[in-house]
Amino acid sequence: MTFHATIAGVPRIGPNRELKKALEGYWNKKISGDELAEVATQLTDTYTADLLAAGIEAVPFAGKSFYDAILDTTALLGVLPHRVSTIADYEGDALPSFIDRYFATARGSVDFPASALTKWFDTNYHYIVPELSADTVFSLDDDAFLADLRHQIDKFGVAVRPVIIGPLTYLNLARTTDGSDPLDHLEELFAIYRELLKRIGGSGVEWVQIDEPALVTDLPAAVLSRVRAGYETLGGSLPAVKILVQTYFEDGDQAVETLSGTGVTAIGVDLVAGSAELPHWTGEELLVAGVVDGRNVWRTNLDEALDTLKQLAARGPVAVSTSASLLHVPYSLDKEDLGQIQDWLAFGKEKVAEVAALAAALQGEDVSEFFAAARTALQDRAQSELTHDAQVRERIAAVTDADRQRASREERRQTQLATLDLPPLPTTTIGSFPQTQEIRRARAQWRVAELTDAEYQQAMVDEISTVIEAQSKLGLDVLVHGEPERNDMVQYFSEQLQGYIATSHGWVQSYGSRCVRPPIISGDVRRTEPMTVQWYNVAQSLTDKPVKGMLTGPVTMLAWSFVRDDQPLGDTADQVALALRDEIADLIAAGAVIIQVDEPAIRELLPLRKEKQAAYLKWAVGSFRLATGDAPSNIQIHTHMCYSEFNELIDTVSDLDADVTSIEAARNGMQVLKALKESGFDMGIGPGVWDIHSPRVPRQEEVDQLLEAALDSIDPQLLWVNPDCGLKTRGWEETTASLEVLVKAAHKARV
Ligand code: GLN
Ligand code: ZN
Repeated sequence: MTFHATIAGVPRIGPNRELKKALEGYWNKKISGDELAEVATQLTDTYTADLLAAGIEAVPFAGKSFYDAILDTTALLGVLPHRVSTIADYEGDALPSFIDRYFATARGSVDFPASALTKWFDTNYHYIVPELSADTVFSLDDDAFLADLRHQIDKFGVAVRPVIIGPLTYLNLARTTDGSDPLDHLEELFAIYRELLKRIGGSGVEWVQIDEPALVTDLPAAVLSRVRAGYETLGGSLPAVKILVQTYFEDGDQAVETLSGTGVTAIGVDLVAGSAELPHWTGEELLVAGVVDGRNVWRTNLDEALDTLKQLAARGPVAVSTSASLLHVPYSLDKEDLGQIQDWLAFGKEKVAEVAALAAALQGEDVSEFFAAARTALQDRAQSELTHDAQVRERIAAVTDADRQRASREERRQTQLATLDLPPLPTTTIGSFPQTQEIRRARAQWRVAELTDAEYQQAMVDEISTVIEAQSKLGLDVLVHGEPERNDMVQYFSEQLQGYIATSHGWVQSYGSRCVRPPIISGDVRRTEPMTVQWYNVAQSLTDKPVKGMLTGPVTMLAWSFVRDDQPLGDTADQVALALRDEIADLIAAGAVIIQVDEPAIRELLPLRKEKQAAYLKWAVGSFRLATGDAPSNIQIHTHMCYSEFNELIDTVSDLDADVTSIEAARNGMQVLKALKESGFDMGIGPGVWDIHSPRVPRQEEVDQLLEAALDSIDPQLLWVNPDCGLKTRGWEETTASLEVLVKAAHKARV
């Protein structure tokens, strides 16, 4: 049987975050392994049943996933890190035997560090990085997966399509502990997959899905031809099971070219991120056309999508799908109350209905009512004043290059040198201080009106006083207010900006049990009143040292939200930038002389394909400069970045034209220094000398050494001394102890 309607992948956390709760219950020893397994089984069963009921004929099934699909693959391939191998098999009944080793890999334990966690392509989902080496030996540990699969097939029949991560993608995302190339294992891994497919085929399925998002990234021709050869061995000789190779996140044509004629039966492509032209698709394979956006929350333009599908169907067999796994969007709109905007949106459940309707329409069925409703909603959205704020538009239209240009670096440097009166190697922190239980409680109580505005205000003022006092005692040079009022650096601003809306149940998995509820940019963005000035005022009134104004930059404000799909990202970023520009003006008017605009996400939005990167960097840098471009020479603009290697982005960092940049460095052994030196970076720079991701207080010699290393590469007149990132996840005790070490290191280095 071939299918007409499917989706690229399923979410795992549960419509009400059931898996999160069960996982945390299990980790805290409140529920048994049997109970945890039961929750996971229930969730996958219900989800499959719901998809079938909604008209999805072929349902992806990734097994019970307790943390992350890449980690599942690592377990399936029998290559969990060596260090956890001393942990014995799980003793209970229903959980896989390897579960304790699996969780130790994901989360670490008293005895073992966790494996690295990093972002899944250009999304905000994180996966557990496989740790391989030249002598890694793969050996299938597929009992748990096959048992889950048999359970689903018994229940739902051959509509169930098992999903595994493909060999290329798995190795592409792996790191090695010995510097060898993970791709050296490619041929070997294809042989293992052959065996795995035989076993999967043995359970009676008709289709298997192999996810290969790496196939849409820049890859050397030699690798592509090895991948092609690999799929020839998989596809050509396994008549028992049909293979769908699923790609997403970028144009699918390279994947189509690599795979066509190899014997795979179907190829899934992302037609939202990529184009439908697909010059290499000959119509031989079934094209699984991802026309419904799996990564964003907007209703699909069904007329356009159907048009695309019809054009493709004229060339060969086509099935309708989502552009990516529904892992990346919330489950459903059922519990939301978003007024007029609700009708413009489609979360997971609504997207499934769209896929089914498109498939029906493509087969000539009458779904005109469904289409008409979508048309009306789209029109409403296009014409609404919420999406088009005349004042914002006018202001954007009037922006010139001069608005993105501050005085010369030299002039700024001289002015700031004369007015700021900072010691050499100034010390500072990145912004947040420990978010204690009390702060969280105060915020939660205020939200449900258990605290009055005045009481909440007082709680924050008290906290800011504590933070200022602590910093004064420590002898830091540039202070922060500590960000106690911020639950999250994006959410805080999104709640105050017009054009952003918040959902009440729009949870998406970020990793493991961690979920986020990204705000939605639904219309033109505008600041209606100052957002941070009152907190700055409180802090500055308590000290003579400069307190940094603290803002989240435009790119990060987009990266951690669902963005508009009806205008270029750069236009939205500029709107956010203008809001920040006004905030900066107000901070300056209030007396701020140093203002930090954080851009930790700038690396994350970088397009997967090189050819698209320059255009992205242009608007990303442009929006930062629009936000900060109005600051006079005496105002020192800081920025902060973290989360990734910046070596290839040093020029971009320099283009931002911030007077001072703090950057994560301690965590990855100060690798960034070399690149800074080689590029001749000539602005203030604070490579972090304390890795704040660990609760461990660094020894004095460690920080001294990191600072010495920094001094070896960086002009002492440019160097700042700061931690890697904000301190909100740390406790007070380790924070004060570590900052003491940091300040002492700076003082020692000054003489
Ligand atoms: N100013 C923010 C903080 O200190 C920056 C956080 C980040 O880089 N993610 O928390
Ligand atoms: Zn950071």
